[in-house]
Amino acid sequence: MLESIEKDGIVRWEDVQGCPGCPTKPRADRPVAVVECLQEIPCNPCETSCPFGAIKVGDPITNLPVLNEDLCTGCGTCVAACPGLAIFLEDDSHGPDVAQVTFPYEYLPLPEKGERVQATNRAGEVICEATVVRVRKPTKATNKTAVITISVPRDYLHEARGIALKR
Ligand code: SF4
Ligand code: SF4
Repeated sequence: MLESIEKDGIVRWEDVQGCPGCPTKPRADRPVAVVECLQEIPCNPCETSCPFGAIKVGDPITNLPVLNEDLCTGCGTCVAACPGLAIFLEDDSHGPDVAQVTFPYEYLPLPEKGERVQATNRAGEVICEATVVRVRKPTKATNKTAVITISVPRDYLHEARGIALKR
């Protein structure tokens, strides 16, 4: 395990950047998955759920997932499939000021499209204002996990990883 995570259990962007599930750069045309899975655990739904073969765990199953960013379409299927809630989408295709981040969400009530919320970082701390742009409701096919997309100031593309509702 990385030293910084061992210290307080919090994953940081610096840690993610060094892992094989991290794309080399955000894409300007569509979302891309960021697989923030940094521990060698026996798990591979990210690999088996991706319809485009963009994530490889292989053998042994404890390998860290490797993202092939060229194959990733940004469909988001893996976000709901990951039991570790470790996969996000970063979307830098919305101009110089805003970006969109997609994440799994296992709380109720669900936010509503258009709702103003507070974005939180990997430690659950509020970091900025955000707007909900998409709510994919939980279904059997999505592992009963909702998938939420928010719009945030572009500076928070690599930091926004959840939300706190204002209501
Ligand atoms: S976002 Fe879609 S294409 Fe990209 S890794 Fe996840 S499941 Fe595969
Ligand atoms: S499904 Fe999630 S927790 Fe499991 S190996 Fe893939 S990224 Fe890691």
